Amino acid sequence: MDDLESADEDVRLEVYRTFAITGRAPAAATLAAELGLDADAVRAGLRRLADGRHLVLDDSGDIVMAHPFSSVPLGFAVMGRETLWWGGCAWDSFALPQVLPDDPEVLVSTRCPGCGAALAWIVSRSVPPEGREVAHFLVPAAQMWDDVVRTCSNQRLFCSDTCVDSWIAASGNARGYVMDLATLWRLAQHWYDGRLDRGYRRREPVQAADYFRAAGLRGTFWGL
Ligand SMILES: [Zn+2]
Ligand SMILES: [Zn+2]
Repeated sequence: MDDLESADEDVRLEVYRTFAITGRAPAAATLAAELGLDADAVRAGLRRLADGRHLVLDDSGDIVMAHPFSSVPLGFAVMGRETLWWGGCAWDSFALPQVLPDDPEVLVSTRCPGCGAALAWIVSRSVPPEGREVAHFLVPAAQMWDDVVRTCSNQRLFCSDTCVDSWIAASGNARGYVMDLATLWRLAQHWYDGRLDRGYRRREPVQAADYFRAAGLRGTFWGL
């Protein structure tokens, strides 16, 4: 992928900076004021960033996600020392302490989609959290961007494999991929490296496959 035009990279960085500091997405008008650009130029830049899968916009052009950040609730709350973020999904929630400069450790909380139990972990940058819970991902890697909000909505944490089974039965979905907390943590550990830095480049598919393999993921679900 080509390097972003520098104005688009300025917009991208300001979106990430705002999410990291405030937990919320900036409005286009705010971005325009911060960057000294006009609002139409910012909106056009946001659309190009969305086309490049750097952001997800809603129908009115507002920012829904800049992975691992989300402006909408998708089942997870992530609490730092002074800031509260929506975790985009299990993967994104576990990734936040890896990318937040001032919060190497966060509290990730959610409810088990299978039984409704409250679940929470202290997730740090350096070691996987303790626990016997499991993550279930519904959408295979190759289709994750077909509808990325639906994909993230269905990357959840459950008490156990039994709770995954009851959710599968109740929702009518096909079973996806189940992993333990340590594997989820390794998947999240370096996936978003560099997103808050200038000149970030998305991984090529072959690099993504190597990364998934190194995290301990297996099978066609991950394109391996
Ligand atoms: Zn449960
Ligand atoms: Zn996600």
